[in-house]
Amino acid sequence: MALYVHKYGGTSVGTVERIKYVADKINQARKQGDDIVVVVSAMSGETDRLLGLAREMQRQPNPRELDVLLSTGEQVTIALLCMALEAEGCPASSYTGAQARILTDAAHTKARILDIDTSRVRRDLEQGKVVVVAGFQGVNEEGDITTLGRGGSDTTAVALAAALKADECRIYTDVDGVYTTDPRVEPKARRLDRITFEEMLEMASLGSKVLQIRAVEFAGKYNVPLRVLSTFDDGPGTLITYEEEEMEQALISGIAFNRDEAKLTVEGVPDHPGIAASILGPIADANIEVDMIVQNVAENDTTDFTFTVHRNDYARALEILQGVCRDLGANQVTGDDHIVKVSMVGVGMRSHAGIASKMFRALAEEGINIRMISTSEIKVSVVLDEKYLELAVRTLHETFGLDTPPGA
Ligand code: ADP
Ligand code: ASP
Ligand code: MG
Repeated sequence: MALYVHKYGGTSVGTVERIKYVADKINQARKQGDDIVVVVSAMSGETDRLLGLAREMQRQPNPRELDVLLSTGEQVTIALLCMALEAEGCPASSYTGAQARILTDAAHTKARILDIDTSRVRRDLEQGKVVVVAGFQGVNEEGDITTLGRGGSDTTAVALAAALKADECRIYTDVDGVYTTDPRVEPKARRLDRITFEEMLEMASLGSKVLQIRAVEFAGKYNVPLRVLSTFDDGPGTLITYEEEEMEQALISGIAFNRDEAKLTVEGVPDHPGIAASILGPIADANIEVDMIVQNVAENDTTDFTFTVHRNDYARALEILQGVCRDLGANQVTGDDHIVKVSMVGVGMRSHAGIASKMFRALAEEGINIRMISTSEIKVSVVLDEKYLELAVRTLHETFGLDTPPGA
């Protein structure tokens, strides 16, 4: 008998009808003789709605209280799903993160899972029940409710699958697998049968929200077989795998993009040792994460220093830099929060030169100006004006032969 962890995202449990549909799907799987642990998200839009309510109370709500609030979304769906299962004659029990003993650190709103005590879950499974666990939440040592960051239900599912040594962790969602790029932006995107952990991790960290980054990290670390598939259509989905020597590696596996970017430049900084530290130090002290960094070659003993941050942190970063600019005797601070990052990812890039230049040429031919560039062994990222996002993604998708062949 196999043990599967199923995870259903917000759209999959977005209405009463859908919850009933998911219950039916789980019941069918159980009738095949498998043990099933289910992780669910809040109903679609619910987490955003709760966040909106919080912001009406306080500009920057207390993270501990925010977690108490946000975790209620998932508590609703676990109860409703269990009722729907029971109505079908399928015995089921719901568990909040705390009840399922998902122990996390104390970093409210972005907590990490430290340990899961699976004894209660196992006992229920032995009694033939379906176990339904609230995604996205846990409990810290103090007994306070924590949440795992947006998209965190994926991580709950993978962590449970690791702790239970499940045969597979199945992430059911509103697309039938991982595509060469977000199919909402490029309808010609192709579903991938397989993608390596390394590539999936890169895609997730560069903005593909189909899986939370931590879920992929966790699956890679604990060897959890992970598959993304559709809640509503049958099909094999996409398997996340290890790189196999004999596997012919595609040059480019996918194109990821991130709309949540903003960039800041300190112009005319005196060029002497310690400059990067004195600019980025205060940014780090304010807990603002920095992504790309570029320092220009000095001219007349001054230089320009540019970096990108999450759009939500733009205003704060700008304010901090005004102070830094005065202290350093730099000329001025400029910024732009209408930029995006588009990245091409592929392990096949390792053994091929010229990918970046082909990418830059394709963008140039469309008149798209590149503002920043960053590369690693398996990715090339460019920062562009927001208005070019769709055009850039589609152009690159075609240039690198990722489009669905006509008639397929
Ligand atoms: P869920 O609510 O089920 O967790 P998400 O909205 O978090 O679903 O993730 C699924 C969405 O991810 C898809 O609807 C799709 O728009 C988006 N997405 C982004 N990049 C990709 C990709 N490369 N392949 C498939 N889906 C992608
Ligand atoms: N409900 C949470 C969110 O919207 C967690 C999740 O869906 O994975 O981010
Ligand atoms: Mg998600």
